[in-house]
Amino acid sequence: MADGAPGRDGPDNPDHPDHSDCSDRPDRPAQDRYEGVGVGTAAVAGPVARMGQAPPEPAAGPAPGDPGDPGDPGDPGDPGRERAAALAALAAVAADLRARGTAAGGATADVLEAQAMMAEDPELADGVTGRTAAGLSAARAIHETFAEFHDTLAALGDYMAGRVADLDDIAARAVAVASGVPMPGLPRRDEPYVLLAADLAPADTALLDRRLVLALVTAEGGPTSHTAILARAMGIPAVVGAAGVLALADGTPVLVDAAAGTVVANPSTEAMEAAVARSCAAAAAAARTGPGRTSDGTAVKLLANIGGPEDVPEALAAGAEGVGLFRTEFLYLDSDAPPSFEAQVKVYKEVFDGFGADARVVVRTLDAGADKPLPFVPLGEEPNPALGVRGLRAFRAFEGRNEAILRTQLLAVREAAGTSAPEVWVMAPMVDELPEAEWFCDLAAACGLDVAAGRVGIMVETPASALTAGPILAGRTGFVSLGTNDLTQYTMAADRMLGAVGPLQDPWHPAVLKLVGAAGAAGAAAGKPAGVCGEAAADPLLACVLVGLGVRSLSMAPSAIAEVRGALAARTLKECQAMAARATGAATARDARRAAGA
Ligand code: PEP
Ligand code: MG
Repeated sequence: MADGAPGRDGPDNPDHPDHSDCSDRPDRPAQDRYEGVGVGTAAVAGPVARMGQAPPEPAAGPAPGDPGDPGDPGDPGDPGRERAAALAALAAVAADLRARGTAAGGATADVLEAQAMMAEDPELADGVTGRTAAGLSAARAIHETFAEFHDTLAALGDYMAGRVADLDDIAARAVAVASGVPMPGLPRRDEPYVLLAADLAPADTALLDRRLVLALVTAEGGPTSHTAILARAMGIPAVVGAAGVLALADGTPVLVDAAAGTVVANPSTEAMEAAVARSCAAAAAAARTGPGRTSDGTAVKLLANIGGPEDVPEALAAGAEGVGLFRTEFLYLDSDAPPSFEAQVKVYKEVFDGFGADARVVVRTLDAGADKPLPFVPLGEEPNPALGVRGLRAFRAFEGRNEAILRTQLLAVREAAGTSAPEVWVMAPMVDELPEAEWFCDLAAACGLDVAAGRVGIMVETPASALTAGPILAGRTGFVSLGTNDLTQYTMAADRMLGAVGPLQDPWHPAVLKLVGAAGAAGAAAGKPAGVCGEAAADPLLACVLVGLGVRSLSMAPSAIAEVRGALAARTLKECQAMAARATGAATARDARRAAGA
């Protein structure tokens, strides 16, 4: 990167062309600053490219005349001209989809070719021809024709739902072309850009070209929005929930600082230099390998969250020091019958054998509940399932009706661990209080697991267990692992499945941090480990705060490990503690993040 010429600086985009030196721009307008929730730590600069919006429904009624040629005998609403415009719009959409497919390659190219062929369907062409002949404008004829096809396809049921969405997408694009406005969807650019959108849908993001998209900025969404999850997985810095940012015009140069959660329009050279220098230091630190530690040597185990053996290679490639959360229920979501002892031994052993003797693998026992129903664990009808029988409760309720399933699982873990290299730990989800934890330890001990060695623990996912982690750890429980996804849900009384309360699902909230601190302090006092295995561990800045709160292992999606390793390596334990003190003293999640990053 040239001196003072910031560009994309993340380790995931090393050969990115530098294109964002704004230092010689004359007449710089006043800066505009927008604040949101940052994802990642990088700071990048580049021009804004806005996501195209769906065009409004074209007006009903006859086609307007050509105002530029009022004397033309074909006016008003020349059907021939409207027909040609409509067919040209469909052809342009087909060509655009093919060009995008060629650029993306692979399976995406096949999907987009199929969509392009839909746009060229002769029946659609007949439909718009008939409607323009009847006097409709090109845009209206396209709209009505596609609406009719939409209804026909939709009537065929769920199976055709994907095709209906494809059809609607083509209609929106063709109406836009016929109306002379930009097509909705991802902008087409040959140069790198900062993608600006209200929010991003999965279908939009599947086509993102990582070489061109410097950063994502959205006006809506929170830290657990699809955009944030995707940005984290792809290693693209993002600022989500930046209210007002849609006011920025296409092409406006912006500085996106994910660590600070800010978007600055028309930034000064000095601001860009400072942000990018800090970001480069973080990227260099992220490029390091080896075990997790702070810059002054406090060990923080960096572990992977996995759902089965297929996730092990990615965890190893990321340098995970083991597994901090093996979500075993993911293996059995489609099973009608409880998995057999033998089947479980086989699959657990497959996972364990991926790791060496210096690794730890933490198996979470089946986490059944309304959000992850297991057909073979009957739970009964519940009016308020997030607060119902789930996690460990599912195996203790109903007079222990489901207990045999848990017992078989623990025996299978014991059997598979017996002949495997890594240290195998087990933990139960959704434990609220000491008696539940002791019940689990008893059952695990009866199944041959080494409770005395501290390998049987619980997940802290409710305020109750966070606040009573002291008494729980004074018992037989060997460790606690904080499930910050559920801990946030239950602290904020905000259903994690409900988009309407998504912004409250923010683990940066000081109330959540204080609960993490309570469990961390309890772990330190008892001399037993406290870790985090929720999404919070994957946020590099928050990871430092968690360490400052006493957490000594962080388990996350493997793709997040490098950045978290880098963020820890750039700070001493004292600095992490100071960040934690500032964050827990804040009033809101947003303030906590800002205070930690200051
Ligand atoms: C959590 O709640 O943070 C957690 C790790 O468990 P899950 O997301 O599987 O509920
Ligand atoms: Mg959970």
